[in-house]
This record gives sequence, C-alpha cells and structure tokens, in this order.
Amino acid sequence: MIIIMRSHVTDEEINAVKNKLKELDLEANISRGVERTIIGAIGEERSVHEESLQALSGVEDVIRVVKPYKIVAREWHKEDTIIDIKGMPLGGKKFQVIAGPCSVETQEQMDLAAKKVAAAGCNFMRAGAFKPRTSPYSFQGKGVEGLKMFRQAADKYNLPIITELMDVRYLDDFLKYKVDIIQIGTRNMQNFDLLKEVGKIHTPVILKRGLCATLSEWLMSAEYIAAGGNHNIILCERGVRTFEKAYRNMLDVTAIPVLKKETHLPVIVDPSHAGGKAELVPALSKAAIAAGADGLLIEMHPNPCEAWCDADQALAPDKLVNLMADMKGIVEVIGREF
Ligand code: PEP
Ligand code: MN
Repeated sequence: MIIIMRSHVTDEEINAVKNKLKELDLEANISRGVERTIIGAIGEERSVHEESLQALSGVEDVIRVVKPYKIVAREWHKEDTIIDIKGMPLGGKKFQVIAGPCSVETQEQMDLAAKKVAAAGCNFMRAGAFKPRTSPYSFQGKGVEGLKMFRQAADKYNLPIITELMDVRYLDDFLKYKVDIIQIGTRNMQNFDLLKEVGKIHTPVILKRGLCATLSEWLMSAEYIAAGGNHNIILCERGVRTFEKAYRNMLDVTAIPVLKKETHLPVIVDPSHAGGKAELVPALSKAAIAAGADGLLIEMHPNPCEAWCDADQALAPDKLVNLMADMKGIVEVIGREF
C-alpha cells in the first residue's frame, strides 16, 4: 500500500500514520520529497481497509499495490483452470456451448428442448426452474418440480444441466437432482451468504456478472466462493446496464480479454441476456469468440413464440443449428477446438 501525504504535512501526522501501520502489522517506509512525503506500507495488505488510513489527518490518498482477490487471480495461478464436468472440459482449448430455454415449463417442452440442444451439437443444457423475475406477478418458475423435469429430459441425451439457485434453502434439492453446474444469477452476484454456501460444496458454479458490477467486484464475488474451498468457478459476462434502450444490456466484450489476464477461471458469455433479441445473438456470439471467451450460454426454445419467459431472445432450434455451423469456423481459425 502506498500512502501519499498532503503537502505541508507535519511530523506528528507522519508519526500517526506510522503508528497506525504498526497496529496493522505493516512496516512503514518513509520517503520525503521536496513537495510530498510518501509512505510505503510493507506487509500483508489484503485485510487492511484503505478507509482506516484515508481518515487519518494529513493523508491525501491511499493506493493498493496488490489485488484484493487472491485465489482467483492469475498472479497466483498461471495456468488456465479447466473444469471437468462429466468428462467434458470447460475452459482450456475447447470451446463449449450451453443452450436451452430460459425456463422449465412442461415435461414435453423440456424433452423437445433437450433433443434440439443435443441435435445442434451442444454439450450442456441450461433452463431455469427458479426464475428471478422483475414482477412478482410474472411466472416464477416450476421450482423443485422443474428440477425433476429438467433432469429427466437432459438424462436422455447425457447432457449435464445448468440451472439457477436463488435461495440456499433449495441447495439440498439441487444436490438431490445432481445439478451439474449451479448458476448464480446477475441479481445475486453479491448475495454473499449464497456465495459462501456454494463455496462449501464442489459443484461447479457459473457466476454471472451483476447488472452494474465492476470486474473487481465480480472477481471479489468469485473469491468468496473460492475462499470456501470451491474453485470450480466459471465467470459469465451477460451485459451491463446502460442508458441505451435499443437492446437489453450492453455486452462488455472488453471484459473478456481483461478477465483472461486477471484470472485463470474460464470466462463464458451469455449473448441472449445481453442483446435481449434473438436476431442479435449470432453477432454477439461471434464477437465473444473472437475476444477469447471459453464458451457461450445461449437461450433456445423449441417454440420461441410460446416461451413463458424471455420469448424475444430465444433462438429457434434451426437458428441454433445455423449459428453452431457459423461459429465452428471462427473458433477454429483462432486456434481453438469446437
Ligand atoms: C438466466 O440466465 O435465465 C438469467 C435470469 O440470467 P441473468 O441472471 O443474467 O439475468
Ligand atoms: Mn432468460
């Protein structure tokens, strides 16, 4: 940590900072310039809050030197993390596509959706049994019954399942139905108690980016899960809220290469919740691949017009087949496997 003191700082003020650092088990390295005095704090700074120093008299600024996250940082783990899900890798050279409807509706819809996901060549299936809806009057999901339908439909095609957990009280049901990847949605990215709970198990977790979360806040949320012992974390960029109304969210393509530099965790992209319109999904998917994403999470419904949730953004099965064919070339041209 570097503490920059105001000009005309007094010896008492410098001593007060020195004493505070001592209390925090940090050593002070004082460098007096003509205009400014700078104090280098040496030691483990992660547990120290900038505010505790910022509030001291004579302090102008406090700058962190090390990243606030540790386990998820590439600094600490150079190689890409590859998560094995039923023998299928997520992360590394292979590019993976997860597809499926926004929500579980009926057994027939799920059976048909699973058939279409497998036929398109996707290795994983998504669907929400518990839905985070803006309105309490909208369809809230089929709940535990939905998990059962999802498991039954996906098992026929050997597809690992991804579904969102919103409430820790349902974690046992998720384990009972052997959910292969637990999704922590955008609205719960900073639900720290939920993050701590999924940190205690070993089921892989897809952690979506919060509506307006910075990359550092997002990585700190991943660190919550990792700190509990679960290092099977996949980050999912799904667009952030802006002033623009022409699409649902703004896909932050820049976040992809930045995350790949900052963390060893796999990074996937959800073009469906970013664009909010099916017609935007192909372009956003291709942009994500080119930027270095490790996979995609795409909404596909066997009959989009009839979808109970997010009908506008669901791809029809034939559109998913076309997109898979178009993406193959891009994935391979950048030296990855499809
Ligand atoms: C979803 O994947 O269905 C979902 C609700 O996503 P998000 O949390 O990104 O809004
Ligand atoms: Mn959705």
